[in-house]
Amino acid sequence: MRDRLDLYAVTAQTELDGLRATMAEREKETRDRGAAGSPQASLAGGGDANRLSGVGRANVPWGTDPFLAFVWITNSPMLTVLRRILRPTSGSSGERRRLVLVRIGSFEEYAEFVARTGREYASRRRFERGLIANRGAFAVDGWCVVCQREAQFQVNFEYSHEVDGELTPNWRERLICPHCGLNNRMRASMHILQQECAPPSGAALYITEQTTSLFRALHHRYPGIVGSEYLGDSQRRGPADRDGIRNEDLTQLTFESARFDHILSFDVFEHVPEYRTGFGECLRCLKPGGKLVFTVPFTKERSTLVRARKNGDGSIVHLLSPEYHGDPLSEAGCLTFYHFGWDLLDDLRRLGFCSVGALLYWSVEFGYLGGGEQMIFVASKPEAA
Ligand SMILES: [Zn+2]
Repeated sequence: MRDRLDLYAVTAQTELDGLRATMAEREKETRDRGAAGSPQASLAGGGDANRLSGVGRANVPWGTDPFLAFVWITNSPMLTVLRRILRPTSGSSGERRRLVLVRIGSFEEYAEFVARTGREYASRRRFERGLIANRGAFAVDGWCVVCQREAQFQVNFEYSHEVDGELTPNWRERLICPHCGLNNRMRASMHILQQECAPPSGAALYITEQTTSLFRALHHRYPGIVGSEYLGDSQRRGPADRDGIRNEDLTQLTFESARFDHILSFDVFEHVPEYRTGFGECLRCLKPGGKLVFTVPFTKERSTLVRARKNGDGSIVHLLSPEYHGDPLSEAGCLTFYHFGWDLLDDLRRLGFCSVGALLYWSVEFGYLGGGEQMIFVASKPEAA
């Protein structure tokens, strides 16, 4: 249900000999280009992950562009299968694997990226369609980065929707690891938190959810993490109530300024009419250099789609048919005010965030499938002057 929007991604792991060198070279190039405002890919090679040899010199559709070569090779489902076959059977739990993230900072950068990788996206969607044999449940083999083990990610048609006339699983909310119970987006958010922020276990983290399996998994790894739910204005805000649930309103957080190393928020801001105030509160509560990592429904368009508005007297005006998302604390669900567009990134920069961007990823290996790409946003609080 939260995934009607086909949020995105890109990924891959590769084991082609020689590609590591290409990646390192390309990373330097893209870093240089990133400084000039072009799409920037974090292509750091995956430690032990790159082995293999000899494949990849055949005729391939990347022309002379090494970046396209990288995207094509690293995202080829066939290579993922090959890599799995060739994976050593011992010591796999100790392997360090890295998710490839493509950083995009604007509508224009995204349009350019899509134009360059359209064929690859089509291939990913074909791969995803090929997994659906019928309308029954099925599993996709992969590696759970949370459990650090092989897993058969479970997919069924709960929350499914039609894409091009075909019933399609809600990839983002499915692909559930049978060992940790976390779905695609939850596993990916932990993966990207580790990779982008690398918080130590004692880090001061805040996440805008508390009654979820993701919070429990994060709490296991980061015991000092603070979680909260929005219990409404009638309940006292701040520290936990008798049930152990903390009540926080994103637009008026009770935390002191610069309290947290990083803040996480997944699919919450679309429910906050005054979302800019909410982002401003996150900025206030972050330490200098801290990161806000978040997801929201995203249209891929230039401008944010306003679905509903809240008047000064508290009444709601629906500009489009009301859309409600699941709420762990309410059967009625939570009204969605926005489907955000790329202008959200400008909002964040105006508020004072820096290094604002969307991270695109898609990975067969890690079970991060869906619509050809998945997407998560990162914005930093500037270091103190
Ligand atoms: Zn797992």
